[in-house]
Amino acid sequence: SKAKLFDQNTDVKTSFKDVAGLEGAKEEVQEIVDFLKNPEKYTSLGGKIPKGALLVGPPGTGKTLLAKAVAGEAKVPFFSLSGSDFVEMFVGVGASRVRDLFKQAKEKSPSIIFIDEIDAIGRARGKSNFSGSNDERENTLNQLLTEMDGFGTNTNVIVIAATNRADVLDKALMRAGRFDRQIYVDLPDVRERKEIFDVHLRPLKKVADELDTDFMAKQTPGFSGADIANVCNEAALIAARKGKQAVGKQDFLDAVDRIVGGLEKKNKIIT
Ligand code: ATP
Repeated sequence: SKAKLFDQNTDVKTSFKDVAGLEGAKEEVQEIVDFLKNPEKYTSLGGKIPKGALLVGPPGTGKTLLAKAVAGEAKVPFFSLSGSDFVEMFVGVGASRVRDLFKQAKEKSPSIIFIDEIDAIGRARGKSNFSGSNDERENTLNQLLTEMDGFGTNTNVIVIAATNRADVLDKALMRAGRFDRQIYVDLPDVRERKEIFDVHLRPLKKVADELDTDFMAKQTPGFSGADIANVCNEAALIAARKGKQAVGKQDFLDAVDRIVGGLEKKNKIIT
C-alpha cells in the first residue's frame, strides 16, 4: 500500500478554548496567529516574520493540540506529519515527502506545517540511534533545512515542530531563520489540571453534581492533559458498564486508579 505522505486539514475546528492552561504558551503562539492573519502589518517596517517555532515538553501535554489551535484560530490549513513515520520509509522517500509537503503548504498559504516528534528526523547528525538508514534521515533533515531557508520573506507558511527531546536536536535546526523560537509546554499544575478536567467533562453526557474538579485536580499530580482526557473517558465507560445514569465521583477515582496502574506498568518497562 502507498503510504500517506502527510495529513492535510483545511477546516480546523480546534481553538484556544480547547486548550486548557498553558497560558504562557498560548500567549506566545497568539503572535503566530497574528502573523498569519495580518502579515502586512508586521512586515511594514522591514521586519521578517519568523519561519518556525519549536514546542518543547513532555508527552501528552497538548503540543499537537496547541499547534492545531493556531491553525484554527488563524483559519488557515494545517499540514502535519510525524517524524516517527519516517522510521519505516524507503530510501529517497523522506526528502521528496518533505519537498511535496512544503510545495502544498506554499500553494495553500497562509498555512501551518506541523512536524510532530521532530527528533526522529532532527537528531544531531552523526550521533543517531535511529533504527533506519542514517543517510536517509540526514537527507530528510537536510531537505527540511533547505525548504525553510528557501522560504521568501512573504511566503507566509509557518512551521511548528514538537519534541520532548530538545537536547538531542541538531543545533542547525535552531539557527536564526529556522526554529529560532522555543516555546515550553509543561505538565499542568493543580490549577491547570482543574481547567483540563473542565474541558474534558464537557463532552460527557451526564456528570453527577457531586463531582468537584478541584478535588479531581488534587488527586492527579503528575498527570498530563492526555492522561486527564483518558481519565474522563474511562470514567464514562466505567459508569456505563455499571448501568449508571450519570458519571459519578467514584467512577472518576476508579479511572484514576486504572490510569495510575497503566503508568506504573509503562515506567517499569522503561526502567
Ligand atoms: P505527544 O508528545 O505525545 O505527541 P502532545 O504534547 O502533542 O503529545 P497532544 O497530542 O496534544 O499532546 O494531547 C493529547 C490529548 O490530550 C489532546 O488531544 C487532548 O485531548 C488532551 N490534552 C492534552 N493537553 C491538553 C490541554 N492543555 N488542554 C486540554 N486537553 C489537553
